[in-house]
Amino acid sequence: MSTAQKKSSAKSSKETTNPFELMIQRFDVAADIIDLDDDIYEILKKPAKQIHVSLPIRMDNGSVKVFEGFRVVHNTALGPSKGGIRFAPEVNEDEVKALAAWMTWKCAIANIPYGGAKGGITCDPLKMSASEIERLTRAYTVAMADVFGVDKDIPAPDVNTGPREMAWIVDEFSKINKGFTPGVVTGKPLMLGGSLGRVEATGRGVMTSALSAMSKLKMDPSKCTAAVQGFGNVGSITAKHLNEQGLKIIAISDHTGAYYNAKGLDIAKATEYREKNGTLDGFKGGTKITNDELLVLKTDVLAPCAMENQIRAASNASHIKAKLIVEGANGPTTTKADEILNEKGIVIVPDILANGGGVTVSYFEWVQNRTGYYYSEEEVNKRADRWMKDAFKNVWNTSKEYKVPLRIAAYIFALKRVAGAIRMRKGF
Ligand code: NAD
Repeated sequence: MSTAQKKSSAKSSKETTNPFELMIQRFDVAADIIDLDDDIYEILKKPAKQIHVSLPIRMDNGSVKVFEGFRVVHNTALGPSKGGIRFAPEVNEDEVKALAAWMTWKCAIANIPYGGAKGGITCDPLKMSASEIERLTRAYTVAMADVFGVDKDIPAPDVNTGPREMAWIVDEFSKINKGFTPGVVTGKPLMLGGSLGRVEATGRGVMTSALSAMSKLKMDPSKCTAAVQGFGNVGSITAKHLNEQGLKIIAISDHTGAYYNAKGLDIAKATEYREKNGTLDGFKGGTKITNDELLVLKTDVLAPCAMENQIRAASNASHIKAKLIVEGANGPTTTKADEILNEKGIVIVPDILANGGGVTVSYFEWVQNRTGYYYSEEEVNKRADRWMKDAFKNVWNTSKEYKVPLRIAAYIFALKRVAGAIRMRKGF
């Protein structure tokens, strides 16, 4: 494909919300700017491996239900592939493909010796019992046993999965591998070789990225407000850390709705409420508004930390009032929305930079499992903060060098690194 054709695909006028198309649109722009060789372009635009399995599970009521499971390995030029596993009703192949590619770029930006992968099961875990989820997780592990491996492909938690599911994967994989193999997943419980600091790592990294950007934009954290969409692992920890850094959190939300308080929300109380009740539904610390209203609030910082495609040209992009958007979620902004936000002068710290703290500490967890030497929480946080700041600096400098927004700069930086590794390994 010629450079000109690559560029034309990025300029399509219709707004897409297909995550893989959104990834390709940004990839095309970056590939064009650095004049990426056609051979490497062809390698990187498609995943290296895609596995799609059917998982028949005995449900608690005795019936058998067949679930669809996916694992996509996008690229392994920089090392074994790495990426979380998502359990959600909307999980589909294109979503997993996009998430896998984003992992390739994210690891390259964070300077971690990993490639990118992602997995998912189309299911609604909120409507399943713990034992049904356990059977499903174990069946998925068996189906992916040839794909996973300490030096091959290392899963981690994502939406609706956490240490509990990772423990089941370690157990099932260790049975198949005939030996305890904690390094096959990260995000494990501490007792099974998890890392101190891993649970907080993504949200903490979102905060570090936000602060790096605020310092460049001369925004004083103690005079700024933030609205955070999503109150799961990433959103709640992001809100907590931003708050600790002096920002007033004026809105938070989950799938049940959003909660607004101009005087600032008590994040510790909201977390306690969510832990006790499972959701924020009924939380009295703020006025209930909708998630759409949260996104267009007058605030300095907006941190979408829930799902993809929350900021779109067709709905809310032109109404966004934040000065800075820090993407805790993967893919929360469409390409068309980017254009509008860029025109408005809103700075976006893109997902593949902002939420890299999780995979950075996952890498530390894997290193600790392999060496058998475990770091203190302070050591983990110190290292992760430094890596996140370095990643931000590299992307910021790339953005200045090429005169492009941070998102395109992040893709350029990642592409150069991955393309360099492919050239060295394959001799292209
Ligand atoms: P989670 O399951 O812990 O939390 C998701 C949150 O989003 C919940 O509060 C849920 O109620 C809320 N939510 C779901 N749909 C919503 C909607 N339509 N509107 C508002 N809120 C909604 O998941 P998580 O691990 O926090 O992941 C959130 C995002 O961050 C995802 O895009 C994920 O891929 C990304 N991410 C996660 C990690 C990690 O370490 N967990 C790392 C990098 C990126």
